[in-house]
Amino acid sequence: MITFVVAGAVAANGLSGSKGADRTSTVRPVSATTPTTAASTQPPTTLAPTTAAPTTTAAPTTTTKPGAIDVGNGASAPVFSRIPTTDPVVFLTIDDGIVQDPAVIDYIRQEQIPVTMFPVPAYVEQNEPYFQAIHALGASVQDHTVHHTDLTKLSLTNMRAEICGPLDEYQAKFGARPWIFRPPYGFMNANVQVVARSCGIRAIVLWHASTNDGRLDTQGGPLQRGDIILMHFRTDLRQNLEVALKAIRAAGLRPAHLEDYLTPA
Ligand SMILES: [Zn+2]
Repeated sequence: MITFVVAGAVAANGLSGSKGADRTSTVRPVSATTPTTAASTQPPTTLAPTTAAPTTTAAPTTTTKPGAIDVGNGASAPVFSRIPTTDPVVFLTIDDGIVQDPAVIDYIRQEQIPVTMFPVPAYVEQNEPYFQAIHALGASVQDHTVHHTDLTKLSLTNMRAEICGPLDEYQAKFGARPWIFRPPYGFMNANVQVVARSCGIRAIVLWHASTNDGRLDTQGGPLQRGDIILMHFRTDLRQNLEVALKAIRAAGLRPAHLEDYLTPA
């Protein structure tokens, strides 16, 4: 149905084949892959440097996208594991949904933590009020496939079904169509970028740090501005949020909404 000619596209990681990649740091993606540079006829987002006030630290929920990245409008969705920004921000992303701990809702509300969710539809269907509660606190719901499979092993038809699959349902349930995609385990290739774009996905996000068992793991060095942090709806999430928040603040950073820093042109 679609011709997948991906000139110059770049596989975003080494596809090491380790199933553990979703919770550790074996994936070392390119920071911002822009495979369609030849087709970037759209000018980058015009910033207003004279009016921007990037040093403002208050009101993270009302960011006016002063430093948002234009994700372009090419045939292939660009990949990010870190958002190039001069703002002192990082991005908390929470995947899957197997454990639905109410304490997480309370903590996100109490600390007003901006997060982005990448749930698996089966878990949303299992306990929709849980995800609605977090959504009501400002978290957007984005795409993480239907069955959490390694997309690189699928035919293009099945790959498309996995990526496009959750979009209608999430739009109906949460009132907004997902436009950011995270491939399960971080496993992806150039076809994933093209198929995702054909589904309406505007950006693919991986990660540059993750939390596990009350520990924040970076891929070398301290947290840096623009880092995307991978978390999971597991029993350790409430603790991981607290640990991450401490590390973020200790680094002079603050969490921000990922969607505010990517502009779907
Ligand atoms: Zn996952």
